[in-house]
Amino acid sequence: MTLPPNVYDAEPIPQAARDEIDRMLQSGDLFRYTAPENAPVTLLERDFAAFMGTKYALAVSSCSAALFLSLKALALPRGARVLIPGFTFAAVPSAIVHADCQPVLCEVGEDYRIDIPDFESRLAEDISAVIVSHMRGHTSDMDAIMAACAARGIPVVEDAAHSLGTTWHGRKIGTLGRVGCFSFQSYKLVNAGEGGIMVTDDADLVARAVIMSGAYEHNWAKHVTGPDAALEAAFARWQNKLPLYNLRLNNLSAAIIRAQLGEIDRRVADGRANHDYMAARLNASPWLHVPDKLGPEQRAPDSIQFNLVGLDEAETRAFAAAAAARGVKVQVFGLSSDNARAFWNWQFIPGPLPELPRTRAMLMRACDARLPARLTRPELDVIADALTGAAEDVMGPARAYGT
Ligand SMILES: *Cc1c(COP(=O)(O)O)cnc(C)c1O
Repeated sequence: MTLPPNVYDAEPIPQAARDEIDRMLQSGDLFRYTAPENAPVTLLERDFAAFMGTKYALAVSSCSAALFLSLKALALPRGARVLIPGFTFAAVPSAIVHADCQPVLCEVGEDYRIDIPDFESRLAEDISAVIVSHMRGHTSDMDAIMAACAARGIPVVEDAAHSLGTTWHGRKIGTLGRVGCFSFQSYKLVNAGEGGIMVTDDADLVARAVIMSGAYEHNWAKHVTGPDAALEAAFARWQNKLPLYNLRLNNLSAAIIRAQLGEIDRRVADGRANHDYMAARLNASPWLHVPDKLGPEQRAPDSIQFNLVGLDEAETRAFAAAAAARGVKVQVFGLSSDNARAFWNWQFIPGPLPELPRTRAMLMRACDARLPARLTRPELDVIADALTGAAEDVMGPARAYGT
């Protein structure tokens, strides 16, 4: 019998990274600005921009740092109001507070996506920027979001921490907004322990972000890797005018990330196949429901979310306990104490905490389970059996309708 798999272990780091790291440990060349050119961080930025099809990429210490620098690079004034979904990771409102701005939350529906009417009505409330957080890789209606923001001239930052490889109408998520931010923390598709990157086509924005990320003196010149008059002019414009927050990435992390870029397409394909297989198995249970994706989206999931149908709070807790007893850990976002994805725990936001009834209702019955791309079909079946079995443990045996 297959045992429940360990869903926390990452995949091994490719051998190419180990060889490169060994070389760096020999030379001690770990800082991105030591080498005159072709430092591992610079090569990562070149390759990542090519992979995404953007003009520029800036590698930094985390996705949170990328979000913070995006807001700083947009030159938002102190106290500017930044609209975000009420379902995201605490790092997102935190980056806004870090940038001296005010997070404003909008409702998220039971399909984990931004509630567009609520988003549009809050957009009228003196909003200076939007961070669309594609939480757990779920893409909201980007056509509606981009149109509403364009109509008001409001810049959009994409938090694509969990969306590497996701597309919308065939376009890569992270390239739809003015800037897109990704994470290389260990629970994301590409794992370097820590790390982040931002992509954009905007020369002025990236020049500001490069300087603030810690390109002191003329180190920005190492970001000009080909003829680019607009970029050079932007660096000249901002020289000595911006604070240096020093949120750089180091060469070791860059080598670990870069060696995994060639793995992304496979991980995306495997993760999607695993997710869709699991979704079909869970949807066969009358008590479990995996919401559909939106039409234009092609997902790249490394986890699965599903709603409990017809279970009250006590039964929901009993379901999580039954799944754990069967060896599969499920987190109900709104029930685990101090969960960083529950908006009522973001008590660091200045002012009264907002209430979002629809988002709260979703969080109270939405379950989260990790689903790494490396899992095999028998392992997926063990997890699916445990989850559907846990629902039956609590609600009784599932009966086919009409019998
Ligand atoms: C992980 C994550 C972040 C933060 O990424 P770090 O690299 O850890 O700062 C932000 N947003 C979402 C949706 C995430 O999943």
